[in-house]
Amino acid sequence: MKRFFLSLLVLSLAACAQRKDTQPVEPYRIAGNLYYVGTSDITAYLVSTPQGHIVINVGYEDTAAQVRDSIQKLGFKITDVRILLNGQAHFDHVAGMAALQKMTGGAKIFASTADAGVMESGGKTDFRWGSEYTYPVVKVDRKLSDGDKVELGGTTLVAHVTGGHSIGCTTWTMQVDDGGKKLDVVIVGGTTVNPGVQLLNNPKYPGVSDDMAKTFRVLRSLHCDIFLGAHGGYYNMAAKYDRFKRGEQPNPFIDPAGYQDHINRMEKAYLDLVAKEKAASGR
Ligand SMILES: [Zn+2]
Repeated sequence: MKRFFLSLLVLSLAACAQRKDTQPVEPYRIAGNLYYVGTSDITAYLVSTPQGHIVINVGYEDTAAQVRDSIQKLGFKITDVRILLNGQAHFDHVAGMAALQKMTGGAKIFASTADAGVMESGGKTDFRWGSEYTYPVVKVDRKLSDGDKVELGGTTLVAHVTGGHSIGCTTWTMQVDDGGKKLDVVIVGGTTVNPGVQLLNNPKYPGVSDDMAKTFRVLRSLHCDIFLGAHGGYYNMAAKYDRFKRGEQPNPFIDPAGYQDHINRMEKAYLDLVAKEKAASGR
Protein backbone atom coordinates (compact mmCIF):
# COMPACT_ATOMS: atom_id res chain seq x y z
CA MET A 1 0.00 0.00 0.00
CA LYS A 2 2.79 2.37 0.93
CA ARG A 3 4.52 1.61 -2.32
CA PHE A 4 1.27 2.36 -4.15
CA PHE A 5 1.11 5.86 -2.65
CA LEU A 6 4.78 6.40 -3.31
CA SER A 7 4.34 5.56 -6.98
CA LEU A 8 1.32 7.88 -7.11
CA LEU A 9 3.49 10.66 -5.72
CA VAL A 10 6.24 9.95 -8.25
CA LEU A 11 3.66 9.94 -11.05
CA SER A 12 2.17 13.27 -10.03
CA LEU A 13 5.63 14.85 -9.64
CA ALA A 14 6.50 13.59 -13.11
CA ALA A 15 3.28 15.06 -14.55
CA CYS A 16 4.16 18.39 -12.98
CA ALA A 17 7.71 18.31 -14.30
CA GLN A 18 6.45 17.48 -17.79
CA ARG A 19 3.95 20.32 -17.93
CA LYS A 20 5.42 22.54 -20.61
CA ASP A 21 3.85 25.82 -19.52
CA THR A 22 5.31 25.85 -15.99
CA GLN A 23 8.98 25.14 -16.64
CA PRO A 24 11.14 27.16 -14.22
CA VAL A 25 12.29 30.61 -15.34
CA GLU A 26 14.76 32.83 -13.48
CA PRO A 27 12.94 35.84 -12.01
CA TYR A 28 13.98 39.26 -13.31
CA ARG A 29 13.14 42.95 -13.22
CA ILE A 30 11.15 43.89 -16.35
CA ALA A 31 11.27 47.65 -15.74
CA GLY A 32 10.90 50.06 -12.81
CA ASN A 33 9.22 48.30 -9.89
CA LEU A 34 7.75 45.53 -12.06
CA TYR A 35 9.27 42.03 -11.90
CA TYR A 36 8.69 38.68 -13.58
CA VAL A 37 8.09 35.85 -11.08
CA GLY A 38 6.22 33.38 -13.31
CA THR A 39 7.10 30.29 -15.31
CA SER A 40 7.80 29.45 -18.96
CA ASP A 41 4.30 30.37 -20.13
CA ILE A 42 2.05 30.81 -17.09
CA THR A 43 2.99 34.32 -16.05
CA ALA A 44 3.12 36.00 -12.65
CA TYR A 45 4.24 39.57 -11.97
CA LEU A 46 5.39 41.27 -8.80
CA VAL A 47 4.87 45.00 -8.31
CA SER A 48 7.14 46.13 -5.51
CA THR A 49 6.33 49.18 -3.37
CA PRO A 50 7.65 50.61 -0.09
CA GLN A 51 4.36 49.53 1.53
CA GLY A 52 4.48 45.93 0.36
CA HIS A 53 3.95 44.11 -2.90
CA ILE A 54 1.23 43.16 -5.34
CA VAL A 55 1.29 39.85 -7.24
CA ILE A 56 -0.66 39.51 -10.48
CA ASN A 57 -1.51 35.89 -11.49
CA VAL A 58 -0.27 32.72 -9.84
CA GLY A 59 -0.74 29.53 -11.84
CA TYR A 60 -1.72 25.98 -10.98
CA GLU A 61 -1.81 24.80 -7.37
CA ASP A 62 1.80 23.59 -7.52
CA THR A 63 2.97 26.78 -9.30
CA ALA A 64 2.45 28.81 -6.12
CA ALA A 65 5.69 27.46 -4.64
CA GLN A 66 7.59 28.42 -7.82
CA VAL A 67 6.19 31.96 -7.64
CA ARG A 68 7.12 32.20 -3.94
CA ASP A 69 10.66 30.98 -4.66
CA SER A 70 11.06 33.52 -7.47
CA ILE A 71 9.89 36.36 -5.20
CA GLN A 72 12.42 35.29 -2.57
CA LYS A 73 15.21 34.90 -5.15
CA LEU A 74 14.73 38.56 -6.04
CA GLY A 75 15.34 39.39 -2.37
CA PHE A 76 11.74 40.19 -1.46
CA LYS A 77 9.86 38.76 1.49
CA ILE A 78 6.84 36.65 0.66
CA THR A 79 5.17 37.99 3.82
CA ASP A 80 5.43 41.53 2.38
CA VAL A 81 2.98 40.61 -0.39
CA ARG A 82 -0.24 42.47 0.45
CA ILE A 83 -2.50 42.04 -2.58
CA LEU A 84 -3.14 39.22 -5.06
CA LEU A 85 -4.72 40.04 -8.44
CA ASN A 86 -5.46 37.99 -11.53
CA GLY A 87 -6.08 38.33 -15.24
CA GLN A 88 -8.52 35.46 -15.68
CA ALA A 89 -10.33 33.12 -13.27
CA HIS A 90 -9.14 29.96 -15.02
CA PHE A 91 -7.50 27.03 -13.26
CA ASP A 92 -4.11 27.59 -14.93
CA HIS A 93 -3.87 31.10 -13.43
CA VAL A 94 -5.75 31.09 -10.12
CA ALA A 95 -5.75 27.50 -8.85
CA GLY A 96 -2.62 28.40 -6.85
CA MET A 97 -4.12 31.50 -5.28
CA ALA A 98 -5.26 29.84 -2.05
CA ALA A 99 -1.79 28.31 -1.59
CA LEU A 100 0.04 31.57 -2.34
CA GLN A 101 -2.26 33.52 -0.04
CA LYS A 102 -1.36 31.11 2.75
CA MET A 103 2.36 31.55 2.05
CA THR A 104 2.02 35.35 2.28
CA GLY A 105 0.38 35.03 5.68
CA GLY A 106 -2.80 36.83 4.65
CA ALA A 107 -2.51 38.92 1.49
CA LYS A 108 -5.91 40.20 0.31
CA ILE A 109 -7.43 38.92 -2.90
CA PHE A 110 -9.01 41.46 -5.25
CA ALA A 111 -10.85 40.45 -8.43
CA SER A 112 -13.47 41.77 -10.83
CA THR A 113 -16.99 41.06 -9.54
CA ALA A 114 -17.67 38.50 -12.29
CA ASP A 115 -14.37 36.62 -11.88
CA ALA A 116 -14.75 36.81 -8.07
CA GLY A 117 -17.94 34.78 -8.39
CA VAL A 118 -16.08 32.08 -10.31
CA MET A 119 -13.13 32.04 -7.89
CA GLU A 120 -15.44 31.82 -4.88
CA SER A 121 -17.04 28.76 -6.47
CA GLY A 122 -13.61 27.18 -6.95
CA GLY A 123 -14.06 27.40 -10.71
CA LYS A 124 -17.32 25.44 -10.71
CA THR A 125 -19.38 28.28 -12.19
CA ASP A 126 -16.95 28.91 -15.06
CA PHE A 127 -19.00 28.75 -18.27
CA ARG A 128 -16.43 26.65 -20.14
CA TRP A 129 -14.27 24.75 -17.64
CA GLY A 130 -16.60 24.50 -14.64
CA SER A 131 -17.30 20.81 -15.05
CA GLU A 132 -13.71 19.89 -15.96
CA TYR A 133 -11.24 21.95 -13.97
CA THR A 134 -12.04 23.10 -10.48
CA TYR A 135 -9.64 24.42 -7.85
CA PRO A 136 -9.46 25.46 -4.19
CA VAL A 137 -12.09 28.06 -3.29
CA VAL A 138 -10.86 31.51 -2.22
CA LYS A 139 -12.66 34.40 -0.59
CA VAL A 140 -12.35 37.59 -2.61
CA ASP A 141 -11.78 40.53 -0.25
CA ARG A 142 -12.54 43.30 -2.73
CA LYS A 143 -14.74 43.07 -5.81
CA LEU A 144 -13.68 45.44 -8.56
CA SER A 145 -15.67 47.23 -11.24
CA ASP A 146 -14.32 48.34 -14.59
CA GLY A 147 -11.96 51.26 -14.08
CA ASP A 148 -11.38 50.64 -10.37
CA LYS A 149 -7.94 51.49 -9.03
CA VAL A 150 -5.77 49.37 -6.78
CA GLU A 151 -3.30 51.58 -4.95
CA LEU A 152 -0.35 50.60 -2.79
CA GLY A 153 2.81 52.47 -1.79
CA GLY A 154 2.60 55.06 -4.57
CA THR A 155 1.80 52.64 -7.39
CA THR A 156 -1.63 52.53 -9.02
CA LEU A 157 -2.99 49.62 -11.05
CA VAL A 158 -6.20 50.07 -13.04
CA ALA A 159 -8.61 47.18 -13.65
CA HIS A 160 -10.09 47.04 -17.15
CA VAL A 161 -12.78 44.39 -17.35
CA THR A 162 -12.17 42.65 -20.68
CA GLY A 163 -14.58 39.74 -20.42
CA GLY A 164 -15.17 36.90 -22.83
CA HIS A 165 -12.19 34.62 -22.29
CA SER A 166 -13.38 34.33 -18.69
CA ILE A 167 -16.54 36.13 -17.67
CA GLY A 168 -14.69 38.77 -15.63
CA CYS A 169 -11.34 38.61 -17.41
CA THR A 170 -9.28 41.64 -16.35
CA THR A 171 -6.55 43.58 -18.14
CA TRP A 172 -4.30 45.51 -15.78
CA THR A 173 -2.54 48.76 -16.59
CA MET A 174 0.07 50.65 -14.63
CA GLN A 175 2.90 53.07 -15.20
CA VAL A 176 6.53 52.27 -14.44
CA ASP A 177 9.33 54.74 -14.01
CA ASP A 178 12.22 53.30 -16.00
CA GLY A 179 15.30 55.43 -15.43
CA GLY A 180 13.23 58.63 -15.34
CA LYS A 181 11.10 57.59 -18.31
CA LYS A 182 7.40 56.90 -17.71
CA LEU A 183 6.23 53.78 -19.52
CA ASP A 184 2.66 52.52 -19.85
CA VAL A 185 2.32 48.83 -19.06
CA VAL A 186 -0.59 46.67 -20.27
CA ILE A 187 -1.02 43.18 -18.82
CA VAL A 188 -3.59 41.54 -21.11
CA GLY A 189 -6.10 39.31 -19.30
CA GLY A 190 -7.12 37.04 -22.17
CA THR A 191 -8.01 37.35 -25.83
CA THR A 192 -8.55 33.78 -27.02
CA VAL A 193 -11.82 31.91 -27.45
CA ASN A 194 -11.26 28.58 -25.74
CA PRO A 195 -11.92 25.43 -27.75
CA GLY A 196 -15.53 24.32 -27.48
CA VAL A 197 -16.89 27.78 -26.60
CA GLN A 198 -20.16 28.63 -28.35
CA LEU A 199 -20.08 32.36 -29.09
CA LEU A 200 -23.64 32.89 -30.33
CA ASN A 201 -26.67 32.12 -28.17
CA ASN A 202 -24.58 30.59 -25.43
CA PRO A 203 -27.11 29.80 -22.67
CA LYS A 204 -24.39 29.71 -20.01
CA TYR A 205 -22.97 33.12 -20.96
CA PRO A 206 -25.34 34.98 -23.30
CA GLY A 207 -23.03 38.02 -23.48
CA VAL A 208 -19.86 36.18 -24.43
CA SER A 209 -19.65 37.42 -28.01
CA ASP A 210 -20.49 41.02 -27.12
CA ASP A 211 -17.91 40.90 -24.33
CA MET A 212 -15.23 39.61 -26.73
CA ALA A 213 -16.02 42.41 -29.19
CA LYS A 214 -15.86 44.95 -26.36
CA THR A 215 -12.54 43.52 -25.15
CA PHE A 216 -10.86 44.35 -28.46
CA ARG A 217 -12.31 47.87 -28.36
CA VAL A 218 -11.03 48.37 -24.81
CA LEU A 219 -7.57 46.98 -25.60
CA ARG A 220 -7.31 49.30 -28.62
CA SER A 221 -8.13 52.27 -26.38
CA LEU A 222 -5.23 51.60 -24.00
CA HIS A 223 -1.85 53.16 -24.58
CA CYS A 224 0.81 50.48 -24.41
CA ASP A 225 4.57 50.72 -24.18
CA ILE A 226 5.33 47.49 -22.30
CA PHE A 227 3.17 44.61 -23.56
CA LEU A 228 2.59 41.73 -21.12
CA GLY A 229 -0.18 39.18 -20.54
CA ALA A 230 -1.55 36.20 -18.64
CA HIS A 231 0.30 33.80 -20.96
CA GLY A 232 3.85 34.40 -22.18
CA GLY A 233 2.64 33.28 -25.61
CA TYR A 234 0.45 36.37 -25.91
CA TYR A 235 3.51 38.59 -26.17
CA ASN A 236 6.29 36.29 -27.34
CA MET A 237 7.85 36.29 -23.91
CA ALA A 238 10.49 33.62 -24.49
CA ALA A 239 12.03 35.35 -27.52
CA LYS A 240 11.86 38.77 -25.87
CA TYR A 241 13.45 37.42 -22.70
CA ASP A 242 16.39 36.05 -24.72
CA ARG A 243 16.96 39.49 -26.23
CA PHE A 244 16.47 41.12 -22.80
CA LYS A 245 19.11 38.79 -21.25
CA ARG A 246 21.59 39.85 -23.90
CA GLY A 247 21.06 43.44 -22.73
CA GLU A 248 19.28 44.62 -25.86
CA GLN A 249 18.29 48.30 -25.78
CA PRO A 250 15.66 49.61 -25.89
CA ASN A 251 14.06 47.08 -23.56
CA PRO A 252 12.51 44.42 -25.87
CA PHE A 253 9.40 44.23 -23.66
CA ILE A 254 8.60 47.71 -25.01
CA ASP A 255 6.53 46.63 -27.99
CA PRO A 256 3.58 48.84 -28.94
CA ALA A 257 3.54 47.39 -32.47
CA GLY A 258 3.43 43.82 -31.14
CA TYR A 259 0.53 44.84 -28.90
CA GLN A 260 -1.49 46.18 -31.85
CA ASP A 261 -0.60 43.11 -33.88
CA HIS A 262 -1.81 40.82 -31.07
CA ILE A 263 -5.15 42.66 -30.88
CA ASN A 264 -5.61 42.48 -34.67
CA ARG A 265 -4.76 38.77 -34.88
CA MET A 266 -6.90 37.75 -31.91
CA GLU A 267 -9.85 39.86 -33.09
CA LYS A 268 -9.64 38.23 -36.52
CA ALA A 269 -9.60 34.76 -34.92
CA TYR A 270 -12.70 35.70 -32.89
CA LEU A 271 -14.53 37.14 -35.93
CA ASP A 272 -13.67 34.03 -37.98
CA LEU A 273 -15.25 31.85 -35.28
CA VAL A 274 -18.39 34.00 -35.24
CA ALA A 275 -18.62 33.75 -39.05
CA LYS A 276 -18.18 29.98 -38.87
CA GLU A 277 -20.97 29.64 -36.29
CA LYS A 278 -23.26 31.84 -38.41
CA ALA A 279 -22.54 29.79 -41.52
CA ALA A 280 -23.16 26.53 -39.67
CA SER A 281 -26.53 27.73 -38.39
CA GLY A 282 -27.51 29.18 -41.79
CA ARG A 283 -27.86 32.75 -40.55
ZN1 LIG B 1 -7.79 30.88 -19.75
